Amino acid sequence: MKRTTVGHVEITALVDTIEAYPATTVYPKADLSPYARHLDAEGRVPLNFGSFLVRDGATLLLVDTGWGPEHGGRLMAELAEAGVKPAQVTHILFTHLHGDHTGWNFDRGSGRVLFPEAKFLVPKLDWEHYTANPNESFERDVRPLEALGVMELVEGERTVSASLTAIPTPGHTPGHTSVVVTSGQERGFILGDVVITAIDAEDPEIDSIFDWDSGIARETRKKTVERLIADGSLVGASHLPAPGLGRFVREGGRQWWQAL
Ligand SMILES: [Zn+2]
Repeated sequence: MKRTTVGHVEITALVDTIEAYPATTVYPKADLSPYARHLDAEGRVPLNFGSFLVRDGATLLLVDTGWGPEHGGRLMAELAEAGVKPAQVTHILFTHLHGDHTGWNFDRGSGRVLFPEAKFLVPKLDWEHYTANPNESFERDVRPLEALGVMELVEGERTVSASLTAIPTPGHTPGHTSVVVTSGQERGFILGDVVITAIDAEDPEIDSIFDWDSGIARETRKKTVERLIADGSLVGASHLPAPGLGRFVREGGRQWWQAL
């Protein structure tokens, strides 16, 4: 758990779990020799599985709900450590509908929704993609939201509160969505899986195996990192090293992820 602010908006990074994957599996086509410092002793890239709690006045937005109990997730405990009860969350936004972002929607035993007062904002293009191509986590964690009447499909730009706007950042999935934070002169950006590791932060041309459409994902990654370097946004990233808060910086022709 780590808390920071963007103007009057409070952003708390919550860590659900951390796992490591062989870098050659994540980036099968890349020469990884320049990136050894980002790998562990076994050549694996450590991935955080993080969510972000964003408070803007009366709006308490949770961006993504982690990987869930099957992965030993700690999201609900992290939320309690942050001093927040699940019923206080007013909105949940999924950056996309992969299972590592939707894990804590329902209690596995009782089936009750874990955030009883929240409106669930679901990217429309992801909803359409996964209702046509369902998988286990979608059926368990996402589809039941529809019958409960707590879901709203979002498409294009969607204002969540005065300082928070959801915008499309497609490629990782068809409807992948990020959150722009604007408060006075300060900027923040919750980017979901647009950038997954410190490796693709340094070279956004490198494709990972995780993207639905690598061409679209690459364009979105390049454009987004350019924007975030230019405006100096505080960035929240799902999978960059825990707790996933930092900035993209560029100096002397090099660019990198600088953790907070
Ligand atoms: Zn992810």
